[in-house]
Amino acid sequence: MATFEEGVSETLQVLRHHGPATRSKLALISGLSRSAVNLRLDALLGANLVRGSQGEASTKGRPADLFAFHERRGRLLVADIGATKFRAGLCDLSGSVEVEESIEVDVAGGPESVLGIVLECFERFLKATNVDREVILGVGVSVPAPVKSGAGMTVNPPIIPRWNRFDVPAWFAPHFACPVYLEKDANAMALGEARLAFPGIENLLMVKMGTGIGSGMVHNGQLFRGADGAAGDLGHTQLALIDADEGPLCKCGNHGCLEAYAGGWAILRDLQETGAAVDTQDDLVALLASGHPEAIRLVRRAGRYVGAAIASAVNMVNPRVVVLGGRMVAAGGDHLFASIREMVYRRSLPLATAELQITRSSLYPRGGLIGLSHLVADAILAPEQIGRLVSKTDR
Ligand SMILES: [Zn+2]
Repeated sequence: MATFEEGVSETLQVLRHHGPATRSKLALISGLSRSAVNLRLDALLGANLVRGSQGEASTKGRPADLFAFHERRGRLLVADIGATKFRAGLCDLSGSVEVEESIEVDVAGGPESVLGIVLECFERFLKATNVDREVILGVGVSVPAPVKSGAGMTVNPPIIPRWNRFDVPAWFAPHFACPVYLEKDANAMALGEARLAFPGIENLLMVKMGTGIGSGMVHNGQLFRGADGAAGDLGHTQLALIDADEGPLCKCGNHGCLEAYAGGWAILRDLQETGAAVDTQDDLVALLASGHPEAIRLVRRAGRYVGAAIASAVNMVNPRVVVLGGRMVAAGGDHLFASIREMVYRRSLPLATAELQITRSSLYPRGGLIGLSHLVADAILAPEQIGRLVSKTDR
């Protein structure tokens, strides 16, 4: 039998994902008796997580009471950290962004300085929106690195080595009493796409191309992290043949990784070798925007490499949708997109591509923030955490 927490969490999930419902509709969806539904609703109404309103009368007589998830019962603070900048926001529990900022930082410089700037940003949001600290129910941070499942830390992150095993929730603990979560950026983006852009899609692959290359997967409607959180590390899959030429050196220490051919940093490296005056990812983006022939050639080539790697992933996990996001995807435009698409269709199994949709993220550059807010809301409203919000007196 479900515990009290499992029960209220389940009923709230129905309202979050199906929208407002009457008591009888809730009983129908959950297969519960009216009295069980009433008990759960009373607890959720008492905790202010659900609001009641009058629905429209379908026939003559009194309209049935309608119940809805109260998405403004609390707020979330989220920060999507990339290699060269971060975007932070204050969101409600439905993932709607109320205020946000994008700030350039050198993330490789180390976690303390970056998180210090993120915290200052969070403080500004609280002030600007007049939101009390107690209203913040969760904090979420994403990084361009593998995150050990449930541990709140990255392990051997190639692009941001100084973040290795740094405990992000512990760093925030003196500042916020609520739970703090750390996630890989591509996982957060995958969840954001699945919830907002493709709500009916159960299997989705998100590929982020920025300074590095990462991917996140939604499998049967849930984020798929693998046994330890390392799933979806597309950027460090091997492209070069093991016996042949080793391929270029990657930031992870291996040779011949996809990222060492096609990551933003690798394209920059190859462009510099041609004598082009480029120092940063911003320079590369500007050069692409100006139609620089060599930059476009390298981006097309990167697209073929990434497309070949995505084709292997499609053969492995058979997603219905592949979403491409991140700064290089935005900057690479049709040159990059067309070459990725072509390789995926050429190299994947016909059964896997018959209904496969390949698309650019419609949530860019906000996909990470939106995904993080859904991720944090899921976590704080799960049976393990919802007891913090539904007090014993409400039972
Ligand atoms: Zn690598």
